[in-house]
Amino acid sequence: MTRSSNLFYQSRLARPMLDRAEGIYLWDTSGKRYLDGSSGAMVSNIGHSNPRVIEAMKKQLDKSSFGYRLHFQNEPAEKLARMTAELMPEGLDRVFFVSGGSEAVESSVKLARQYAITQGNDKRWKVISRFPSYHGGTLGAVALTGYDPLTKPFAPMMREMPKIPAPLCYLDQDNLDDEARGLKYAEMLRDEIIAQGPETVLAFIMEPIGGASTGALVAPDSYYGRIREICDEFGILLIYDEVMTGAGRTGKFVASEHWGITPDIVALSKGFAAGYSPLGAMVAKSDIVDAVLDAGGFLHGFTYAGNPLACAAGTAVLTELQRLDLITNAAAMGEILKSELTTLMDRYPFIGDVRGKGLLLAFELVSDRETMVPLPKGLNAYNRLVDLAYERGLIIYSRRTRGGIEGDHFLVCPPLIINRPQIDEITATLIESLDSMAAEMNLPVNV
Ligand code: PMP
Repeated sequence: MTRSSNLFYQSRLARPMLDRAEGIYLWDTSGKRYLDGSSGAMVSNIGHSNPRVIEAMKKQLDKSSFGYRLHFQNEPAEKLARMTAELMPEGLDRVFFVSGGSEAVESSVKLARQYAITQGNDKRWKVISRFPSYHGGTLGAVALTGYDPLTKPFAPMMREMPKIPAPLCYLDQDNLDDEARGLKYAEMLRDEIIAQGPETVLAFIMEPIGGASTGALVAPDSYYGRIREICDEFGILLIYDEVMTGAGRTGKFVASEHWGITPDIVALSKGFAAGYSPLGAMVAKSDIVDAVLDAGGFLHGFTYAGNPLACAAGTAVLTELQRLDLITNAAAMGEILKSELTTLMDRYPFIGDVRGKGLLLAFELVSDRETMVPLPKGLNAYNRLVDLAYERGLIIYSRRTRGGIEGDHFLVCPPLIINRPQIDEITATLIESLDSMAAEMNLPVNV
């Protein structure tokens, strides 16, 4: 094996060298153009190389790029906290900055724990999460993540946290209606709390719409309200991991707004600074934050938290999100893209499900739409389709997982600035790629 680079990530997989990016497109150094159909990893919500964001960052760089938060407050951080609080649902108005999603999740859990201590609930430490789920790559977040390939090797190093099944209703073969199914899955939280001993349970964390782990999984409406009720019944904090769903991705600033739910703590990142700078935030209710600060302070923080450059990027991104009305566009374009993806089901009987909200959309491949049996693992469809699309200049994002069984799902999540002709471009390239995959794998196509 020859080594061409000193750099490594998960594997040695070599990809072309990125040259430049603009709007919803990226170009490699050979000049080939790619439509960013997954906004990177659901990050580039306002698109690439936005001139106003670049200008705001340059201006900030000329003044200061770093000032340690314990030595100075800074205007961009104050402004971004104010803007964030205004955009969040009523009651979620205290903002703590971090540099990414895992840090936002870790911060949420640590704030919850310290809050419980201030309330005399020292025994509460268990954070229930869902299986499958993804909450980040740091060990604390790995303990919450329900995805065996990424968690198993590290199990001895973690305090295992209880998991309940994510509401994978599309796989259920029961005769329940949507509402009853949503309640069925929500009751699993209640059962788990009782099994664990309510006095030991600190919080429940969930992605309101599943991201990478479940492929844009939306629960029935009844699920969300019932989960909130159950948490309230036992005095358990509800943490929404909106790292992927936040910042307008699903057609609301945060996905909790779809159901009128106010979580106690929310983790944000990805679209929050849309890739212009590593940035995330934990947003919490005032009574939680004040209790912790009054009791002596939050025993937690990261070196780069709230640095002026990252926060200048964040404020400029949120300003663009509003100026261009991108949340409305995400909702409108999301409807169109979802209906295009749904139409593909006529041509490809092996598309078993299309799901999601706004521009957090996914489709799943199956051997049989009735039984929802997945494609054989050996076909490696989740890699092959991504590669076939990539060859044709379209980037999509895939995973092979769903509950205990495995299935191939593909996230189609372009930047929120996308327009109708660009959606048609995605659909056309997907058809070429799916046709080609079907021919290779002998899968049926209705023409
Ligand atoms: N939570 C969710 C829901 C995510 O999708 C991600 C990233 N995919 C994370 C947390 C972790 O974010 P980061 O990689 O920025 O640490």
